[in-house]
Amino acid sequence: MAWRERRFLSWLVLVLLLSALIPGCGSAAPPGDGDEPAVQEDAGLPACDLPPNGELCIHFIDVGQGDCILVLLPSGQTMLVDAGDNGLGPTVVQYLKEQGVTRVDYLVATHPHADHIGGMPDVIKFFDIGEVYMPRTTHTTQTYERLLLAIREKGLRITEASAGVVLFDLPDLRAVFVAPVSSGYDNLNDWSAVLRIEYGDTAFVLAGDAEAKSEEEMVSSGVKLTANVLKVGHHGSRTSTTLGFLTAVSPEIAVISVGAGNNYGHPAPETLSRLASAGAKVYRTDLHGTVKVVSDGHSVLVQTEKGAASIETGPLPCCSP
Ligand SMILES: [Zn+2]
Repeated sequence: MAWRERRFLSWLVLVLLLSALIPGCGSAAPPGDGDEPAVQEDAGLPACDLPPNGELCIHFIDVGQGDCILVLLPSGQTMLVDAGDNGLGPTVVQYLKEQGVTRVDYLVATHPHADHIGGMPDVIKFFDIGEVYMPRTTHTTQTYERLLLAIREKGLRITEASAGVVLFDLPDLRAVFVAPVSSGYDNLNDWSAVLRIEYGDTAFVLAGDAEAKSEEEMVSSGVKLTANVLKVGHHGSRTSTTLGFLTAVSPEIAVISVGAGNNYGHPAPETLSRLASAGAKVYRTDLHGTVKVVSDGHSVLVQTEKGAASIETGPLPCCSP
C-alpha cells in the first residue's frame, strides 16, 4: 500500500511540475490541504507522452462515436488501434503530434467499419508507419477503399490479424491477437482484431467491436484473457460483453469509447449493469473525454480528461504475491 501511495504521490508531483513548466499542458491541480494528495477531480490529463518513463500508456482518445486508441510502449515504440470516423483524421494526427509521436510502429485496423478506419488514411499519410495489421475480410465502402489506397501508396504491407498472431514478445512486454479465432463471420463486427497487451503484472484487452460470437470463441479457445482494463466491445452495445467473456477477462476497469447522444443507444443499460455486477469501474469517452490508463508493470492508474476522479488498481489477481 505504501508503495502505491508513493507511486501516486510522485505521479501527481510530475503532473504539477510539467503543468507549471509547459504552457498549455493542462491546468495544474489545486494543491491539497494536507501532506497527502487528495484524489483529484477534473485535474486535466497528466503528461504521458514520449519518450516513455518506463511506463505503458494507453490513450482512449475521445473521437465521439468510434474508436481510436494510442498505445505508448515502454520500449519507446507506438501503436495505434483504429483512428476514428471519417473526418476525424486531422484530429487524430494532431493528438498524436501533441504526444510527440512521429512514427506509428504498429497500426491496427480492427475491422473495416468507418468509425474505426475513417481517420486512418490521414494517419498513414502523415506518420512513418511500421507494421499494418488487419483481419482477413473486406468491405465495399469508399472509406475502406481509401484506406487500402493509402496503404498501397505508402508501399506498406498488410499483416493478417488473427488469434495467435504475436506483435511483439519481449521480457515483461507482449502483445498478441486473441481474435478473430475463426474465419467466415456473418457480422463484420465479429471480424474485429482483439488485442491483449501484457506489461509486467498488468494486462489490457482491446476488444474492437467484437460481439457475442467472437467472445464465445475467444473464451472457448482457452487463451489467456484476464486483464486489469477492458476496452469494452462495440461501444457498449448489448450484443457484446457477454457474461462468459466478462468473467474470463474480469477487468477492474472498463473503458467505453462512445459518442454522446449517439443513435445506437450505446452504451446499453444491460451492458452497464453486467459491468457493474462484475465490479468493473466504467469510464466513458462521452462523459469523461479522453481516458488515459498508465501502467508501470505493477499497478494501473487511470486519469480522465474531465469529470472523474483518478483511481489506481493493483496487479492482476492472478499475479498478486
Ligand atoms: Zn464501431
